[in-house]
Amino acid sequence: MRKVFYVLLLFCAGVVSAQDMNVRILSTMKVSAVNVTVQRGSFQLLLDGKPQHDSVAQQVIQITMIEDSMLVRIPNDTLGKFALIQLNATTDTSTFRIKPIVPMSGTRTYDDNLTISVVNGQLFCRNNVNLESYVGGVVESESGGRSFIEFYKVQAIICRTYALAHINRHFLDGFDVCDGVHCQVYRSKTKEPLILQAVTETNGKVIVDKNLNLITAAFHSNCGGETANSGDVWAANLPYLKSVEDTFCRRMPNAIWKRKIDKDDWLNYLETKHKYPVNDSTACYKALNMTQYDREKEYVYGGLRIPYKNIRSDWQLKSAYFSIQEQQDSILISGRGYGHGVGLCQEGAIRMAKLGYTYDFIINFYYRNVEIVDKSRLDFFRED
Ligand SMILES: [Zn+2]
Ligand SMILES: [Zn+2]
Repeated sequence: MRKVFYVLLLFCAGVVSAQDMNVRILSTMKVSAVNVTVQRGSFQLLLDGKPQHDSVAQQVIQITMIEDSMLVRIPNDTLGKFALIQLNATTDTSTFRIKPIVPMSGTRTYDDNLTISVVNGQLFCRNNVNLESYVGGVVESESGGRSFIEFYKVQAIICRTYALAHINRHFLDGFDVCDGVHCQVYRSKTKEPLILQAVTETNGKVIVDKNLNLITAAFHSNCGGETANSGDVWAANLPYLKSVEDTFCRRMPNAIWKRKIDKDDWLNYLETKHKYPVNDSTACYKALNMTQYDREKEYVYGGLRIPYKNIRSDWQLKSAYFSIQEQQDSILISGRGYGHGVGLCQEGAIRMAKLGYTYDFIINFYYRNVEIVDKSRLDFFRED
């Protein structure tokens, strides 16, 4: 019985290679009117579940919210008011464009299906899309263009891992993930040839820990030369998110930063927020001259502990990896890196890719004791 079950699973893994994501798009703006056009392939338009003639889907479809429903127009014709609009791809390579009209915003392009309804006084747009197309769009949105193929492969595997690990994040909202920073930014499908190649060449690959669980694939812009332990920044101390020394990012654009703060503001902050003894001359001197030679979790004075991550968020600093020097009426904060510092350092990974390191080496450099596996094999082994 067990053997038959495995054989069945293997068979399924081979046949069902595609996986869809249900992504809420335009989630960060309150949209009440959009234009939709077919860019490539063919679609069927359904209005309140009723299929329209094929020629209707090929025109500019103007959708305007009116109370709880939507007015649908095509050039020279008004089709009526509907509660549900579906644009379903009828070919494998079908692409549509959606342009927000109210408020006005740039045109976005997506593969596969589109569903629109009205929820909470705004258009609720969902893109039901192949996982690999979604991953390509996220890689471009999260890491930009003009980089190296091995870096894009790293980013594709991370974005795919993150998407599958968080697929239930919006379960109660009626979709899988949103297109904002809350989940992963997904502005459009990608047209960048190197990103498309990287996604194809890493098709289905994800990162797992020793227990074959998808990892929390955290990343940030620049670690400043040393990544952070996840437990020093977040509640969970994950074994694969341990501090590593990184010499690759030290000359990259976000490696260092400086910020000046008024001395009185700084001492006032320490006293009111952290009950720091600023009237004690030794304590005061130390607070004006903090040094992190290596990345540390907290500033310690006597029994008082102030997490550097709290100082970072209170002053909106680029990173929690900084030192402080007293100047006349101010303090000079000299910082290293940009972001929370946990997991993969993007600028270090870009530099490694430029130097010829392969994607699997880069992933294993930043995430410790992990494996890169195909997600279909993962389903199989999990049942073991
Ligand atoms: Zn989200
Ligand atoms: Zn780094």
